[in-house]
Amino acid sequence: MELLDVIVIGAGPAGVFAALRAADLGAKTALVIRDEFGGMAANDGPVPVRTLAQAARLLREARQLGMFGIAVSEPVLNYPRLLERVRTVVNDVRMHSALRAQIDSVQVTVHDHAGTARFVDSHTIETESGLQLRGKKIIICTGGVSRRLSLPGFELTATHSDAWRLTSVPQSMLVIGGGATGAQVASIFNAFGSKIELFEAGPRILATEDEDVSAVVADSFRGAGIRVHESFGKIESFEKTPSGVRMIFSKNGALNGAEAALIVAAVGWVADTATLNFLKVGVEIDHRGFVRVDPYLQTSVPNIFAAGDVTGRMMLVPQAIQDGFVAATNAVRGAKKVSGSPVNPIGSFTDPEYAQVGLSERKAREKHDVLTAVVNFDSTTRTIIDGRTTGFCKLIVDRGTSKILGCHVVGERAVDITQVAAIAITAGMRVDDLAQVPLSFPTYIAILGRVAASAARQLNLKVTWQANHAEDVA
Ligand SMILES: Cc1cc2nc3c(=O)[nH]c(=O)nc-3n(C[C@H](O)[C@H](O)[C@H](O)COP(=O)(O)OP(=O)(O)OC[C@H]3O[C@@H](n4cnc5c(N)ncnc54)[C@H](O)[C@@H]3O)c2cc1C
Repeated sequence: MELLDVIVIGAGPAGVFAALRAADLGAKTALVIRDEFGGMAANDGPVPVRTLAQAARLLREARQLGMFGIAVSEPVLNYPRLLERVRTVVNDVRMHSALRAQIDSVQVTVHDHAGTARFVDSHTIETESGLQLRGKKIIICTGGVSRRLSLPGFELTATHSDAWRLTSVPQSMLVIGGGATGAQVASIFNAFGSKIELFEAGPRILATEDEDVSAVVADSFRGAGIRVHESFGKIESFEKTPSGVRMIFSKNGALNGAEAALIVAAVGWVADTATLNFLKVGVEIDHRGFVRVDPYLQTSVPNIFAAGDVTGRMMLVPQAIQDGFVAATNAVRGAKKVSGSPVNPIGSFTDPEYAQVGLSERKAREKHDVLTAVVNFDSTTRTIIDGRTTGFCKLIVDRGTSKILGCHVVGERAVDITQVAAIAITAGMRVDDLAQVPLSFPTYIAILGRVAASAARQLNLKVTWQANHAEDVA
């Protein structure tokens, strides 16, 4: 059997970028794909979600038409046609945007639809289709799957993937888990007309976001008709009802029930490593199956690296891409490059959107003397024009250096607004530098210029070029 330089298992963003990088560095590389190219990112996560979220956005914009004097009848969603659109988008992304052409052009050997791969020894893998490959280095990029709970009746619940595959919009839905996935499912299906109840065991939804961001999203959800239950108690079981499923839960010793046509459980993420046969090769994992890696993304077995969701760190596409690049660089050139960036963009396409780059306010306060500046969306021109005045932009600045440490935004176009803060953080900009960048008026991005100007004023920094004055006087 030929000895390859690098074998990459899994073709999500981490695997694709690992294979591209390894081949770019001259390594003879093979990419092993269980099913579809593009991984969960293209086939079952952000791409289908974003397509449904776009439909939800169009519905809410259509419902705003009356505000601008445009009379139309109530928009009607044809869900099967929307799902056709989702399938078209997923196929197009897989073909045109998930870098398949680049992978082929750098001569990575791609093994499509090879089935699940497993280790035979630390240099050899085999797949369900009978493929056997031997490599000097192996990079595990197998991502994760929804966590299942060992509770009576849990098999009656659906995952986010089942929710995208429904043939019609359920009349009612319980969403269990108020993290990023649960919040998106709740927000999208609420816009589609389902009666939604969102259950979060902790004291607030979006527990890893800024507390003020969580509060705005929870209030907006409630305002839009979603029943948000925080600190709801402990799930006991699920049972079938004539029209759907019931969840039995307890709180302070009392039993309660809630039922709906469908229950979607979004209770976390575990690594997709159960079938890889790690015991045989000695790759160490944690209690959720996530592969333990050092800062160079090297596992406990020196010739085996891991990248992306399978390591259980920041489970997002930009981080998976970066990990793939770093793991391949270290696999080919020796373990010298450390993974991680100060930016770590996080964002979600709920209504309202929320996003974060850099350090959260809480994290920043652990190590820095912090100043924050906030601009509320009900005081900016563009948001007033568009009738989207819920939300705020918060900038987190180090008082000593005046450098931008982080940014939280909740509200319309939150994700886009934070991208400019990401550039400022990466460039190591001071807040007064950012305040002096001319930004078009009236735009969502200009809100960031305004909050930067506010922070600069609080720090008594001289802003000699009043770039975003228009926002202040409008
Ligand atoms: C509902 C939802 C919405 C999301 N929205 C966003 C978003 O808006 N923005 C964002 O940045 N991130 C989002 N994410 C997260 C993002 O999808 C992941 O962080 C990203 O896909 C991780 O990439 P990866 O390459 O590590 O793994 P994956 O994309 O999961 O790819 C892993 C691949 O490996 C394959 N595989 C697994 N086991 C084996 C095996 N034994 N042999 C061979 N192949 C195997 C899998 O089938 C899969 O194709 C979302 C996730 C979900 C669930």
